[in-house]
Amino acid sequence: MPSYKAPVEEILFLLSDVFPIQRYNNLPGFAEATPDLIEAILSEAAKLCEETLLPLNQPGDRTGCIRNKDGSVATPRGFKEAYRAFVAGGWVGLSADPNLGGQGLPYTLAAIVNEFASSANMAFAMYPGLSQGALAALLTHGTDAQKKIFVPKLISGDWSGTMNLTESHCGTDLGLLKAKAVPNGDASYAVFGEKIFISAGEHDLAENIIHLVLARIEGAPAGVKGISLFVVPKILIEADGSLGAANKVTCGSLEHKMGIHANATCVMNYDGAKGWLVGEPNRGLNAMFVMMNEARLGVAIQGLAVSEVAYQNAAAYAKERLQGRSLAGPKYPEKPADPIIVHPDVRRNLMTIRAFNEAARALVIWTALKSDIAHRSADKSEVQAAADCLGLLTPVLKGVLTDIGFDNTVKAQQVLGGHGYIEEWGMEQFVRDARIAMIYEGANGIQALDLVGRKLAKDGGRAVIAFFGEVKSFIKDNEGDAALAPYLTGLKQGLAHLEQATLWFMQNAIAKPDNAGAGSYDYMHLFGLVALGFMWAQIAKAALAIKPAGNGDAAAMDAKLLLAKYFMERIMPESGAHLARISTGAATMMALEAEQF
Ligand SMILES: Cc1cc2nc3c(=O)[nH]c(=O)nc-3n(C[C@H](O)[C@H](O)[C@H](O)COP(=O)(O)OP(=O)(O)OC[C@H]3O[C@@H](n4cnc5c(N)ncnc54)[C@H](O)[C@@H]3O)c2cc1C
Repeated sequence: MPSYKAPVEEILFLLSDVFPIQRYNNLPGFAEATPDLIEAILSEAAKLCEETLLPLNQPGDRTGCIRNKDGSVATPRGFKEAYRAFVAGGWVGLSADPNLGGQGLPYTLAAIVNEFASSANMAFAMYPGLSQGALAALLTHGTDAQKKIFVPKLISGDWSGTMNLTESHCGTDLGLLKAKAVPNGDASYAVFGEKIFISAGEHDLAENIIHLVLARIEGAPAGVKGISLFVVPKILIEADGSLGAANKVTCGSLEHKMGIHANATCVMNYDGAKGWLVGEPNRGLNAMFVMMNEARLGVAIQGLAVSEVAYQNAAAYAKERLQGRSLAGPKYPEKPADPIIVHPDVRRNLMTIRAFNEAARALVIWTALKSDIAHRSADKSEVQAAADCLGLLTPVLKGVLTDIGFDNTVKAQQVLGGHGYIEEWGMEQFVRDARIAMIYEGANGIQALDLVGRKLAKDGGRAVIAFFGEVKSFIKDNEGDAALAPYLTGLKQGLAHLEQATLWFMQNAIAKPDNAGAGSYDYMHLFGLVALGFMWAQIAKAALAIKPAGNGDAAAMDAKLLLAKYFMERIMPESGAHLARISTGAATMMALEAEQF
């Protein structure tokens, strides 16, 4: 069975030395998160994930979920008990408002716990994870009565949430959706239609499931301007808050799929189910976006999480597996062969994964802190700057962390050779599980279009100008530090390529939008390289400060500096290839007629 150890030490380093969390003590919930409390929370979360969730990951993948004849869905053995433990620990409401039953701690901590849980068992973590999106939509757009009925139960984990967008003929283009809502004559609607691919649509973990459903009110305009959002409980709720009759929503079938077998992916049938409007009529997409932004960060974390657990198992294997001798002469002459960790090509895989994982983790924390500022600060200009950055970085994190996270599971699998392909070792499950993160919550090609088509130009480019400014001021402030200089050179080069690519779009994509579409994927990855490089530069600065002070683990800091160097030497240069591809535009890509494919 694969093993997993949550990277608690590394996170404590990030939160104390790279992005000192105490700096944010002016924000609600941060002063309460003392260093001791943070350490205790992370250790407790690590224990739950390592000891309870991880052992269920492989068996859950093998058995999957089962739909019973009555339409109910059974999750794999052990999931109910694990969910109870998860809920009892208060993990669902870690960062939620204390007035509604949450603990009010920083979202940043919840994001970290999400990484641990998704590494240990991605399919399990999705059940409570989906409740977060439902909560966000209800808290932002729900009425007071809706908040009172649904939010505390979602926070406690007694009920779980889902998001229902997709229909068989529409996923990306939601303007085509057909689900219909007919006013009942009271405040409620009767919702009709079929939704497909609904994660956690039906299961046996929570008492009730709260579906957030996109549908068109009868007579609403066609396209995206006629879509509304509804809250539809699986079991109707009586006036006193108790559970009443079953609503007319059922799971028609379960999808048989490549990975995350233990997460129920359901076809949901709405046959006049009672639902209530969330937010304004015909503004449902707007309300759903709140949910999707939360969920996109959650999916980005899945990319990192599976990359991390795959790395840990590949590294352990590489230290044990004896094959061949080091090119530089035997390293372990007393053994029949050297462990494969001596071979540069095996290290190429391991170093590439780890150089991504550590920077991606820093980027998640950096972005999560922006989210905390955006949602909790009282200072309007600070809120605006943080929200700008969050909006800009969300598609980058979703696209880049899940693409590279998946690539890394393949690299880690490669380290195990043929054993990586065999079920028993668990590596092929990581590959299968990681793949979906590139597709759902908006396929990654759509994330790239969101970045280039919407986020770059938004508010006159305010967010991207501010991001470039932040990276540049870091470089300028630290250029005089000779020890840090080697880590800044690559970052400067990457940033220059990103700025050139941005300018190229301004000059070439406004009149010819296909040029934007043709370069958007490379642009998203170029942006990701710069963001990850910016993280490495900040990690290197912290490591350089700790080492001479002798107040940290010098070997661990040396490792960080080496990984930073590896990233700048071997990964950052890809920025040039991205720029070259972007600058060729769409002409060749679009030249073949559709019939010629
Ligand atoms: C396991 C699983 C779980 C899921 N969970 C949920 C869930 O909980 N709730 C939910 O509502 N949905 C869910 N989905 C659906 C998922 O979000 C969609 O599959 C995804 O958004 C893509 O939609 P689609 O499959 O219809 O692909 P399409 O929209 O048909 O896209 C096909 C391809 O064309 C590309 N494409 C489409 N339009 C454009 C364009 N304008 N420009 C450029 N490229 C384009 C896409 O990037 C994609 O590569 C889930 C799916 C799976 C497989």
